[in-house]
Amino acid sequence: MISSFLSDRHALLAGKTTLPELIKRSLASVESTNHEVNALIDVYADEALARAEQIQGKIEKGQAGSLAGAIFSLKDLFAHKDHRLQSASKILDSFTSIYDATVVERILAADAIILGRANQDEFGMGSSNEYSVYGPCKHPEDPQRVPGGSSGGSAASVAAGYCNLSLGSDTGGSVRQPAAFCGLVGLKPSYGRISRYGLAAYASSLDTVGCFGATVADVAACLEVIAGQDPHDMTTQSSAVPAYMEHLEHPDSEPLRFGVNPSWFMEGLDSDIKHRIESLIVAIKDLGHEVHEISMPAQSASLSAYYVLATAEASSNLARYDGIHAGYRAEQDDQSSLEEIYTKSRSEGFGPEVKRRILLGTYVLSKGYYDAYYGKAQKVRRLIQREYEEVFQKVDVVLLPTAPTTAFKSGEKVDDPLAMYLNDVYTLAANLSGITAMSVPIGRHSNGMPMGVQLQTAVSDELRCFQAGVLVETLVKERMQ
Ligand code: GLN
Repeated sequence: MISSFLSDRHALLAGKTTLPELIKRSLASVESTNHEVNALIDVYADEALARAEQIQGKIEKGQAGSLAGAIFSLKDLFAHKDHRLQSASKILDSFTSIYDATVVERILAADAIILGRANQDEFGMGSSNEYSVYGPCKHPEDPQRVPGGSSGGSAASVAAGYCNLSLGSDTGGSVRQPAAFCGLVGLKPSYGRISRYGLAAYASSLDTVGCFGATVADVAACLEVIAGQDPHDMTTQSSAVPAYMEHLEHPDSEPLRFGVNPSWFMEGLDSDIKHRIESLIVAIKDLGHEVHEISMPAQSASLSAYYVLATAEASSNLARYDGIHAGYRAEQDDQSSLEEIYTKSRSEGFGPEVKRRILLGTYVLSKGYYDAYYGKAQKVRRLIQREYEEVFQKVDVVLLPTAPTTAFKSGEKVDDPLAMYLNDVYTLAANLSGITAMSVPIGRHSNGMPMGVQLQTAVSDELRCFQAGVLVETLVKERMQ
């Protein structure tokens, strides 16, 4: 069901299929299951077919770009000229973008096709894609379960075979966790590796664009196109983007140094996931790689620090949606005061989880509480960053679970915010410290659902993350199915 971009591309370049045929195959899958999965909220069928004809012409002339054959869905928070962007919120009701995000511009210039707009949790806040104005997105393999979140529609659209790549965003785990739940590779590159220009903001110091695909190489091919400095985003890294694909084709045989923190494998982690990762570690050692025990005590505070910092930034970023400057405006009469318009528009426009975060964020930033919460969380963040800097002096890759469980049942956590937040326990520290992190599939749980392992490398070291990812893919394929 899941198709790989590079395999599709290979078949196209070898003349075994055509791009219009691939788009028709995608549209047939959308037609058969999207009404239930609810992964895509807009499908650009005619546009995709027309572009497929055009790019097919380029393939035949040998002039196609490096993403010819890529069929993308875009999380509902990327600006895509003349297409809707709503961040799954009523507050952006019917908003249409007037420009392309840098990542959209780059994939289109490389001859990718955008098939549709993907469901998500409102403004990226959630871990199950149940908080959406479009209704929940379901796991394509089991509609009783969630696909993960917040980029649930992105993951589900690839897992259901509608697309072979998808762009999402990861502020605290929103690419890695749904990738693990849906059996995909999901990359959160280091902070600033990819431009955020044209991305509807959640928490700007944590937001990263991320990519979903069937394999590590598929995701690497995508990153090679979308990464790099952008004058529109001053936080983008200036370091050159390596030719990932070339490096992956000619791997060096240097052993990698892995770091594992035993305290991450204690209580709270599902036992199948634990055992699978333990066998993976044994297999890694067998191949001659080093595995070191590491200790990262500051990470135990990452959940608290994240939910203070992310909500503080969200309360500020979302202040612009007031019904006057931007966003949905509630019905009003001639007597309505400005404050009434703001209050009514925001009360009607935002969903319950977003309101909870705005209230929390406003509280932690308020006079009298600022130092106790926001100031303290900033200090914790610095400690977590320092811990990673020290660990990456000794090891190349930190290996840990992506999520404590497999895809959970719909409705199971939606009324219990703390249980929902706890699902992010393994992913948040990477955003707080800005490092690279990726989830790679490691086979099936005894409940039949996919499981993932998380690989983390230093800032700007996406290449090493890909190399470790290819190693895991090979071990899983050869020894652990
Ligand atoms: N689940 C986390 C949250 O709700 C992370 C979301 C994200 O990465 N966008 O904040």
